[in-house]
Amino acid sequence: MYKTERLKVFSANLPFLVSVNIGISTILVISGIYDGISTDKLFWMLSIYAVSALRLFFHYGISSTNPHKLDFHFFGVVLAGVVWASYPYLFHQNFTIKQEMVALIIFCGMSGGSASLLSADLRSSIAFTTITVIPFCLVLMGMGPDEKAIGIMGIGYAIALCLSAVRSSTFIINSIRSQLHVESLVANLESEVEKRTAKILTLEQRDMLTGLYNRTSFTTKVEMVQDQAFEQPNNIETFIHINLEAFHIINDNYGHEFGDLVLTLIGKRLTNIDKYYGSVSARWGNDEFIIYLSTQSTYTVNEYIDLVREKLSEPIQHNNIRVSLTFHIGYFDGSEPMPILRAIKNAQLAMNDGKKNHIRVRAFDQDIQDQYERKEYLRLEMLKAIENQTFFMNYQPIVDIKTQRIHSFEALVRWKVAGEPIAPDEFIAIAEENGLITDLGKLIMKMSLMALNRVNQRHPQVAISINVSAIEFEHDEFIDYLDFLIHQYSIITQNIHLEITETAMISNLARLSNVIKRLKNKGIMISVDDFGTGFSSISVLKNLSVDFIKIDKTYVDDICSNEKDQSIVSAVTKMAHTINSKVIAEGVELPEQLAILRSSDVDFIQGYLFSKPVSFETMLTQLAYE
Ligand code: C2E
Ligand code: CA
Ligand code: CA
Repeated sequence: MYKTERLKVFSANLPFLVSVNIGISTILVISGIYDGISTDKLFWMLSIYAVSALRLFFHYGISSTNPHKLDFHFFGVVLAGVVWASYPYLFHQNFTIKQEMVALIIFCGMSGGSASLLSADLRSSIAFTTITVIPFCLVLMGMGPDEKAIGIMGIGYAIALCLSAVRSSTFIINSIRSQLHVESLVANLESEVEKRTAKILTLEQRDMLTGLYNRTSFTTKVEMVQDQAFEQPNNIETFIHINLEAFHIINDNYGHEFGDLVLTLIGKRLTNIDKYYGSVSARWGNDEFIIYLSTQSTYTVNEYIDLVREKLSEPIQHNNIRVSLTFHIGYFDGSEPMPILRAIKNAQLAMNDGKKNHIRVRAFDQDIQDQYERKEYLRLEMLKAIENQTFFMNYQPIVDIKTQRIHSFEALVRWKVAGEPIAPDEFIAIAEENGLITDLGKLIMKMSLMALNRVNQRHPQVAISINVSAIEFEHDEFIDYLDFLIHQYSIITQNIHLEITETAMISNLARLSNVIKRLKNKGIMISVDDFGTGFSSISVLKNLSVDFIKIDKTYVDDICSNEKDQSIVSAVTKMAHTINSKVIAEGVELPEQLAILRSSDVDFIQGYLFSKPVSFETMLTQLAYE
């Protein structure tokens, strides 16, 4: 047990032990303590020297890794013990009793010292003591009574030495054991610390659910891969953006646990593909993934994307639930180095374009680049326009179908950039995407209520209909600002109609219904815009006590030729009336359309047939002719 460690302790003492052997043997022979120097004694001394040399050879000449080195030392010890033991045998015939006693004391002293110095190897320690002391004592005991007494004393001493050697050896073994224990504790602690650090690093780098890289670590990882990739000839870098379709529906229908399972499986599937292609996949957002791929041909890029589509489309089965995922993929590839975040953005733009145009896999191209640049340009221009308040309003009359009198005006925002009018559909979307709609909405509200104030001075019954985007509704600030304007312009709240699109209303129902109730308590009216483009139910509209339902232009467009549209308009109007809502038909351009709408019992019409959106002054003129 603990052979290596014991060898270390043993070896540490060996040179000293050997020098003691040489020293004492020389003193014994040369000092002339016993009858002076003789050839026999010199020969004996040389034997001790020879054994010492052999022991030193064992010490220096044999590698410490040799498992038998300690055995060689044991052999050296036994040899030395035998040569020492031969001394009294060879020379005691001429000794006086006094000389014998002195010799025994020297031997006992020497073996006492050796016993403790050799105790790292118990057998050496005991062997040396017994070989050097016991035979000498036995020789003495075979002589006269005085010698016998000395011999018995010597044997007693030898036994005591052996016991003490056993104790020293046990002590050494225990010390070695505790030393090793401490060392292994330290080693364990170090490996534990290493393991934990690795775990923390993984947590920092990986998305917990999917095991893929997270947003922060993805770019670092890609940079590392890129360093090698660009050394390859004809290197093509591809960034792929994957967006799961309707993931929130999976969560809503089957629960978040199943949603998590879906994401975990996607993570596994992408990881397997990464292993094969050396690609790098990351979870970019809730249901969005980004992949980096470096290849040498466009063929491999296409093959890769096909594989991703195939693998991710495989149905997911869990208990009784089975879903097949659908998704949109946008990708950007190039052979020139490009900032990673820009390449990711390009892939994302391609995905968004595909989503908008119902294309499953869309590559980034010049068209997308142009659209993006235009959006960026308009976004920057819009920041200036909000600051300088260069937006203005047009108003389109909403007419009572029975009396043909103007009931209200829809306020429609207008914007020109470098003299060119920009369509509100386009710039409202940009304002919504970039968080500018709140400021723009405030401006629209202010201009519209200023106009209402002036109109109501002469025509107190005429209302204004203002389009509000769902994002504006979500801020508490919205109602506060509205209150402020109502007071500033002394507005009759019943003359404010707020239009919110059906789609926005339904998808934000939980959050919006509270705001709608607060607005209604103030007397403000609510209109559902673009009705028929979303999926609202009449009961939802009833609960919200919606005042006006605006039937979308697409139903009016074909109402003369399409009987289905005609019956839809008629049915919607009937249902609306049962919940006390009035119906407005949008986009009425033809007298034939008007006739059918009238027979369907629609309450109001809005459209080019009566008037296009007009300036404030024209609106006042239109009212004056009533
Ligand atoms: P919308 O709320 O459905 O507005 C009606 C749109 O139909 C207006 O387009 C109007 O000019 C157009 N229109 C009205 N009658 C006819 C017709 O007989 N024939 C045809 N072809 N078109 C007709 P506009 O002004 O371009 O506005 C487009 C959309 O932009 C609006 O749709 C609305 O969603 C949004 N928008 C306009 N102004 C505002 C605003 O002040 N705030 C917000 N949040 N959105 C606005
Ligand atoms: Ca509208
Ligand atoms: Ca509309």
